[in-house]
Amino acid sequence: MKAIAVIPKQPNSAHLVEVNTPTVDDIPDGRGVLVEVLRVGACGTDREINNGEYGVAPQGFDFLVLGHENFGRVKEVGENVKELAVGDYVVATVRRPRGHSIYDTIGEQDFTTDNEYYERGISRIHGYMAEFYSESADFLVKIPPTIAEIAVLLEPLSIIEKGLKQASDIQERLKIWHPKTAAVLGTGNVGLLTIMALRMRGYEVHGFGKDRREGYKNADLCESIGATYDSTNDMSILDSTKKYGEYDLIFECTGYSPIVFDAMQSLNENGILILASVTGGTRTTDKVPSDKINQMFVLGNRALVGTVNANREHFEMGVKDLALCEAMYAGWLGRMLTHKVEGLENYEKVFEILNNSSRYGAIKTYFEIAKI
Ligand code: BGC
Repeated sequence: MKAIAVIPKQPNSAHLVEVNTPTVDDIPDGRGVLVEVLRVGACGTDREINNGEYGVAPQGFDFLVLGHENFGRVKEVGENVKELAVGDYVVATVRRPRGHSIYDTIGEQDFTTDNEYYERGISRIHGYMAEFYSESADFLVKIPPTIAEIAVLLEPLSIIEKGLKQASDIQERLKIWHPKTAAVLGTGNVGLLTIMALRMRGYEVHGFGKDRREGYKNADLCESIGATYDSTNDMSILDSTKKYGEYDLIFECTGYSPIVFDAMQSLNENGILILASVTGGTRTTDKVPSDKINQMFVLGNRALVGTVNANREHFEMGVKDLALCEAMYAGWLGRMLTHKVEGLENYEKVFEILNNSSRYGAIKTYFEIAKI
């Protein structure tokens, strides 16, 4: 079968490969599921891997099959798979519990403390940019047919769900926490999904992006789901508190690390800041008002947490939010799927769009490998 692979650490190495078609028997204990891949999303992590900045090939291979944002249809199930049937739609999780940390052994591999982690399409395991994959039913999440069209958004959403779950777990320290306002920094696909997830929870949400409001499709999406949009060219996050008040929750997903310190100063008492940008660069920043920030966190009981990767429960939370959003704002999620590329052989087009996403006005670029 066809797949898209890279040679890790070699810039611009994406290419088509021919690999063996997997089978249900590749997975032990009759728990295998063979999945026909229908759609695979592409994101900044795929771009970084193709730029040679990230990614590790599986042992015994010099290439890594890319792809972690996935959506597919069950083709065949092993004898001990009772929860899925042929024809079901599924999304697979990304990280596998193959490390040595205690979190891997208790099935909480998204919290692994190992430096070497195992993620499909990213690190040490082949991914989903292929015609088929096989996987244990333990790592597959069933998707209701009514959200099939937008289910390729579930994997990026799962990271946000994990962030919000961690926030509510941490805030249990307060006994009572009734958050009302949230700011979302960054209005790319992760930011928009975060705005959606917060709107589904009833927050008053303020989105912030770099782009000017006029003609910016992402700002239309913010507003049509009941959030505001402001360009940080006109108003910094810190200044925005004069207009909107301090925020109970702030979710950072811009990829621009200096903004974190402004966000820390824009939180309400008892508020929580969630960081989701994987900033692999070497940027530094100065003029951080460290006394002020420190005091705000100490005297105001503020909290800060990072979110990466996601567990099955976060994918399941995401399924509910996608379904609720379709019910409340029909078609909104579909508007995020701006760039469809048909066929794995057109991978160059995917990277062309990913590398120039603002020129293309791309929110989510994805492969359609087979029809739904
Ligand atoms: C993926 C996560 C992964 C992270 C770090 C993200 O793009 O969505 O599943 O843990 O990259 O590799």
